[in-house]
Amino acid sequence: MPVPVPAPPVITVVGGGFAGTALVLHLRQQAALAQAEIHLIEPREVPGPGLAYSARRPEYLLNVRPGGLSLYADAPEHFAAWLQDQPESANGAPEFASRASYGRYLSENLSAALGATGPGHLRWHQTTAVAAPALPDGRRAVQLANGTEIVSDYVVLALGNFPSPPPAGPDHRYLHHPAYHADPWAPRNLRRIGPDDSVLLIGSGLTAVDVLLALRQDGHRAPITVVARHGRWPSAHVPAAPTYPNFYSELAAETTVLGVIAVFKRHQRLAQAQGIDWRPVLDALRPDLGRIWAAWPLLEQQRFLRHLAGLWAVARHRSPPQNAAAVAELTAAGLVQLQVGTVREVLPDGDQLRVRVRPHGRAGCWLTAQHVVCCAGPLLNYSRIADPLVTSLREAGHLTPDPLGLGLLTDEHGALLGVNGGLSRTLFTLGPSRRPAYFESTAVPELRQQAAALAQELARRVGI
Ligand SMILES: Cc1cc2nc3c(=O)[nH]c(=O)nc-3n(C[C@H](O)[C@H](O)[C@H](O)COP(=O)(O)OP(=O)(O)OC[C@H]3O[C@@H](n4cnc5c(N)ncnc54)[C@H](O)[C@@H]3O)c2cc1C
Repeated sequence: MPVPVPAPPVITVVGGGFAGTALVLHLRQQAALAQAEIHLIEPREVPGPGLAYSARRPEYLLNVRPGGLSLYADAPEHFAAWLQDQPESANGAPEFASRASYGRYLSENLSAALGATGPGHLRWHQTTAVAAPALPDGRRAVQLANGTEIVSDYVVLALGNFPSPPPAGPDHRYLHHPAYHADPWAPRNLRRIGPDDSVLLIGSGLTAVDVLLALRQDGHRAPITVVARHGRWPSAHVPAAPTYPNFYSELAAETTVLGVIAVFKRHQRLAQAQGIDWRPVLDALRPDLGRIWAAWPLLEQQRFLRHLAGLWAVARHRSPPQNAAAVAELTAAGLVQLQVGTVREVLPDGDQLRVRVRPHGRAGCWLTAQHVVCCAGPLLNYSRIADPLVTSLREAGHLTPDPLGLGLLTDEHGALLGVNGGLSRTLFTLGPSRRPAYFESTAVPELRQQAAALAQELARRVGI
């Protein structure tokens, strides 16, 4: 009797931004998956760039140097070499390239894989996934908004960041007011702002820096108010600095935030004595940040989020030096005013918005602006995310939001933990959704590592 040939595995990757793209490319490199049928679900016109790198404006720069942005950790110059051959490098490759360039790098690499012939099958579906119910045989039926259903052995959620939650409540009328800009990345959104219109930005992170620079580029002249809880701009990158040796071994047993800070400060002083800036000291720990975070009990993680997460973001997520200099210039000229405080209320007032700001421990004040742009961080709390796919998986108990509202509970491979406490054999995730495990699960260096590791893990499971 002929032995039946097993059907090739079907892997569906939902989300074709950086993480989904990197995963697909790493899956294609796995010999055990050479025959696999891989489906990439991404509704954007061009798959690959995702939210961060679809921006077309040349003033939106990457916040990492080209040497840190290769799709492949084992070929660190892959992006830098590509960039060298692009028209924007005619006078030498930029130290911080535009995000649009990086988006092109991703889409070119992905489209080469989509166009490749050979065994296996890679297909892009330009639509969204709306549900992925489990089938009686243990596989999943990924249902797409266009009516297609893909019966899959493995489904990977690479959904990225969801839009910021409303910055103030409970009166949410402002969310529908024309002066409120909920999404600073929406195409042509900022172009609705006239050159002399008053503008208030909520948040002072990298998004706010981009919005300031884009407004200036568009000829905006009026002063801009920026309201932020901690009142600091992202720190600037320094010119490629000497590295500092890794000192994780001194932190491996630390289970408190204060203990970690004490060790860090000691090394900061040692570095300072050698003329080394604090940045290389922090960067020395980059590969171990996940382990440091995971060693803290929940109470310590909460303490970090409450007291230090803002400062951490300022130190860790840095601006290209030219962006930091532009913000400093605007501030010195009085064109940007940074106001420390929390936005408590936003109320419509004719064609303007009134914003109540509460500085820490002091009485609040009202500010009025013709435009309010939300530059706050993304929503990662999966118990509040309203995306249909997330909602249906949550309601079926197939995913578990973490107690700190940072993402999803998973194992070390990204397999989702169901509400019954069991690990899924079919459902995985990568990207910002894995913040509960690592805290830093946002930037290219971390995500490409997750993509490579998950591709290897799926290849191993198929090979069993
Ligand atoms: C403005 C901005 C600038 C950044 N700059 C940098 C930088 O310079 N360097 C750096 O290292 N990191 C940067 N980051 C961090 C960035 O988040 C990561 O580098 C990376 O792009 C995240 O990739 P991702 O695939 O997880 O998310 P995304 O790129 O957002 O991709 C997720 C994709 O999933 C799709 N999707 C969502 N739901 C569904 C669904 N139900 N069905 C189908 N598709 C779906 C979306 O359309 C989206 O394209 C930046 C982030 C932002 C927001």
